[in-house]
Amino acid sequence: RPRVLSGIQPTADSFHLGNYLGAVRQWVALQETHETFYCVVDLHAITVEHDPKLLRKRTRVSAAQLLALGIDPERAALFAQSHVPEHAQLGWVMQCLTGFGEASRMTQFKDKSSKQAQDRITLGLFGYPSLQAADILCYQATHVPVGEDQRQHLELTRDLAQRFNSRFGKTFVLPEPYILKDAAKIYDLQDPGSKMSKSSSSPAGIVDLLDDPKVSAKKIRSAVTDNEREIVYDPERKAGVSNLLVVLSAFTGRTPLQLQDDYVGKGYGDLKKDVAEALVEFVTPVQARVRSYLDDTAELDKVLARGAERAREVASRTLARAYDRLGFLAQR
Ligand code: ATP
Ligand code: MG
Repeated sequence: RPRVLSGIQPTADSFHLGNYLGAVRQWVALQETHETFYCVVDLHAITVEHDPKLLRKRTRVSAAQLLALGIDPERAALFAQSHVPEHAQLGWVMQCLTGFGEASRMTQFKDKSSKQAQDRITLGLFGYPSLQAADILCYQATHVPVGEDQRQHLELTRDLAQRFNSRFGKTFVLPEPYILKDAAKIYDLQDPGSKMSKSSSSPAGIVDLLDDPKVSAKKIRSAVTDNEREIVYDPERKAGVSNLLVVLSAFTGRTPLQLQDDYVGKGYGDLKKDVAEALVEFVTPVQARVRSYLDDTAELDKVLARGAERAREVASRTLARAYDRLGFLAQR
């Protein structure tokens, strides 16, 4: 079966709506048809300053959310990235193949580093996409379900795989991005020109899955729109309204254009009310399941340990082959 790898950072107390609609929802669907590897990317989480206690907590909360959202540990290997040392090992190799200019052109790096003083920007943040390439290539993944914001990193991963293959002999499968057109990018409710983001959205702009549903409903009702009245799907001109249509589309299965027809003669307030209702209905049972997974952290840690074991089987084979091709002596 074709392989899938994807990851999510434990950098916040909750996933947001963009994480779910852009990525995790696809992760769940792909379990049916693919061999799936999903990781909480704790190594990536330390590319910016972090608090160890919070990281530990958020790694478990992330795993609990993935389970609550439908990742089935019998089918998918669900693990913490740091439990599979091959990621860091192959990550180094990928860094040695990545050009300085190439890494400098990554827009995520430019965004995340522009907000910090020079000496706070770490080499880890600069090398983030090379480690991400290793995450993917360790598993010879054919498909990588991510949001639209990760497309450039996927391109880099393909370039690095190709570069390695042409210099050292065919070793890596070239992965394809798996980015669904609708809901591939959810925008900040208060700033619909920017993506909803764990690290840069304001509290009012982000819908956290684990937030009090009443608070989320209120945020949706206060979402920035425009001073027209008509509900039209036009992401360029009407970013706020279009964002709400995309969210409702994901929950109802109607396309944004069908919804536009449904709302003829209705106002922004009606749309917001329906989005808020759909969201509350979705998150309420998810939150109950998250709480129950977090009630038994021993069991949760066991799930992650089993996932890491399965992941290592595959990743260690890939790493051994890559090390051999690079000319490293075999360990006797
Ligand atoms: P950070 O701001 O710390 O980078 P993030 O919100 O971007 O956090 P990640 O953990 O980096 O979250 O990304 C996890 C997955 O969620 C990735 O596949 C990413 O493409 C997807 N994703 C993140 N934000 C959005 C968004 N606004 N819309 C759709 N998908 C998103
Ligand atoms: Mg991100």
